[in-house]
Amino acid sequence: MTAQIIDGKETAKALRQSIAGEVAKIKETVGVTPGLAVVLVGADPASEVYVKNKAKQTVEVGMTSFEHRLPEETTESDLLSLIDQLNNDTSVHGILVQLPVPKHIDERKVISAIDPAKDVDGFHPINAGRLATGQKALVPCTPVGCVILAKQAQADLTGLNAVVIGRSNIVGKPVAQLLLQENCTVTIAHSRTQNLPEIVRQADLVVAAAGQCEIVKGDWIKPGAIVIDVGIHRTVNDLGKTKLKGDVAFDEAVETAGHITPVPGGVGPMTIACLLRNSVVACARLNGLPDPVL
Ligand code: NAD
Repeated sequence: MTAQIIDGKETAKALRQSIAGEVAKIKETVGVTPGLAVVLVGADPASEVYVKNKAKQTVEVGMTSFEHRLPEETTESDLLSLIDQLNNDTSVHGILVQLPVPKHIDERKVISAIDPAKDVDGFHPINAGRLATGQKALVPCTPVGCVILAKQAQADLTGLNAVVIGRSNIVGKPVAQLLLQENCTVTIAHSRTQNLPEIVRQADLVVAAAGQCEIVKGDWIKPGAIVIDVGIHRTVNDLGKTKLKGDVAFDEAVETAGHITPVPGGVGPMTIACLLRNSVVACARLNGLPDPVL
């Protein structure tokens, strides 16, 4: 059996089109253009690429992009002042501080300083708490993308045995919370889990977010399972050619799974699309409008 590929690029494109429609509706209804502010401290090349892509896609869906590039030596208090200013700026509906921040800045303080209503990364403890208690929240982007992709394979995930590999606050925990809301029976595996292959073999749905290149082997996959691969690893072959790989040994798993996301072209493209989605949702809520259906 060869799995069907879940196309993250196409799904993200369709989502961006719906977002553009919602942006236009908000402009028409209340005369407000949703605005996303991205803050980058320092000159990490990978972060620079992410920030550029985010800004480009923000503008493409009709939103306003505010970019704040601060030098590496920016003090924590200067960064907190900028966040305060953005919290109070009515043209800004979403605030994202690109992580990681330089070591002399306390990441938790920064996340907690963002107004939860504008916290489009969904990392603020208030949003994490709301998600965990089933209340309206802004939910981390990559986990939202994972669930949208899983639902491409099967619209109703009710009753599935889901195994999430990884327990980070950014991916593993929120994806597990979302799958609980989808009525899955959820197991969270992590670096101290015993018998990981056996646990994964029970899964109808696997979300691999361990940050370990190709840790999930083909013979761990239950025939017909849905496999969502969050990992991104840049590898170089003997000829010096760069190739992106995931947490799943794709060439093996594709033979057994029912549906699988590739790397690249799976979860990756969904993350920015979901950031735009969160920004439109935040804008609607801040303007007293119902949540857009996205
Ligand atoms: P992290 O390092 O914060 O967390 C990794 C988690 O995996 C930890 O909870 C750890 O307990 C668990 N883990 C580590 N080794 C394990 C093992 N051998 N067996 C089982 N569990 C193990 O990473 P993260 O931020 O959650 O990201 C995970 C992966 O997803 C990384 O490869 C990252 O690059 C990728 N990522 C991709 C996107 C995207 O947009 N596609 C977004 C965020 C993260």
